[in-house]
Amino acid sequence: MADPDARFREHPMARSTEGKLQPLAMTQPFPLPEPMRVALDCARAAADAGEVPIGAVVTRAGDIIATGENRNRRDHDPTAHAEMVAIRAAARTLGTDRLTDCDLWVTLEPCAMCAGAIAHARIARLYYGAPDPKGGGVDHGARVFARPQCHHRPALFPGIGEERAAALLRAFFAARR
Ligand SMILES: [Zn+2]
Repeated sequence: MADPDARFREHPMARSTEGKLQPLAMTQPFPLPEPMRVALDCARAAADAGEVPIGAVVTRAGDIIATGENRNRRDHDPTAHAEMVAIRAAARTLGTDRLTDCDLWVTLEPCAMCAGAIAHARIARLYYGAPDPKGGGVDHGARVFARPQCHHRPALFPGIGEERAAALLRAFFAARR
């Protein structure tokens, strides 16, 4: 049987900007790291409020300093994606616009807008759950961090909690059909 973690180890972007491999302890699928469990809770809360179930968490030195969930409908705000909500909250909490030593955990591959915000915020590491071939902007579509114009690239760890994140989205959209 294939090594289930091989794709994390082999992911070409699971490297720092200096090309060093990142520690892989947090990329193991089981047990799910606490920040991703909290992000999934945020996604569930968003679904309960009638929003697309996506959640995000910002951590610093292992501590959760901000959470976010999709709020587009509630706030009448097309930019209120879970990542944007969490990044804004973290920046306010820390009193800075540079989240240099912070990590972002999000249940779905960020879109191009959120990837841009992640670069502006100087997020160190991005952990995401399910890939998003239709709307993603990290490993699909615009591939924001792979552009030469991108001034900051976080280390990438896709597929963390992927099954649970994808199941939430499937259930949400199935219920709306
Ligand atoms: Zn987004």
